[in-house]
Amino acid sequence: MVAEPVGAGRGRKVLIVEDEESVRMTLRYNLAARGYVVLEAGTGTEGLELMRSRNPDLVVLDLMLPELSGEEVCRAIRAESDVPILMLTARGSETDKVNGLGLGADDYMTKPFGLKEFMARIEALLRRSERPQRTSAPSERIRVGGFVLDASSRRVLVDDNPVKMSPREFSLLFFLLSHPGRVHSRDAILRAVWGPDFNGDSKTVAVHIRWLREKFELFPSLPFRINTVFGVGYRVDIAPGIHLQR
Ligand code: CA
Repeated sequence: MVAEPVGAGRGRKVLIVEDEESVRMTLRYNLAARGYVVLEAGTGTEGLELMRSRNPDLVVLDLMLPELSGEEVCRAIRAESDVPILMLTARGSETDKVNGLGLGADDYMTKPFGLKEFMARIEALLRRSERPQRTSAPSERIRVGGFVLDASSRRVLVDDNPVKMSPREFSLLFFLLSHPGRVHSRDAILRAVWGPDFNGDSKTVAVHIRWLREKFELFPSLPFRINTVFGVGYRVDIAPGIHLQR
């Protein structure tokens, strides 16, 4: 019989991406003592690999890393996942930077920090992420100003004018609009819209995005844009003052 993990961690996986071995060791020791499973990476590249292969419940990410910076790792994770990220920074000025950049980290701590506070932050982040999501059932209808996407009839209307779409274009648009303001990598879009078994190139995504944009060029009143986030992927941005309704 396998022993039940004890303590607050309850076997949840925490990935620590930190090049300072002493910090990593202290965190590992304290997390493991509370029943967390600890995954460790000393570089950003390793961190991303573990992120993808082990699917942790939370990521502790140092900002100053060799090779890939914590900033880049954070962006790459956010393009693929909602996993809570606690950023570690060395100085006040770095903390300001993290705040200013809006990297998508959920919380940050300035080194050196107390372990008690660290554990409290980890537990708070996990509690927050484990609350049931309001959007668990995908909505059938998305309305943004004069734009309407209806999944049950697979129709798209802009100011009551129907816009013809292929099934793939429709699915891609539905996916992007389901997460407005969020950046999606080409690979993440491929997996979500084309499915995990699709063998094609991620350039396919770029081509379909271009087709969508071309269709919407006829509608200057369209209240959102599909923006390219250079080196990362795509994001739907809604015009200021307009709200998406489901
Ligand atoms: Ca560091």
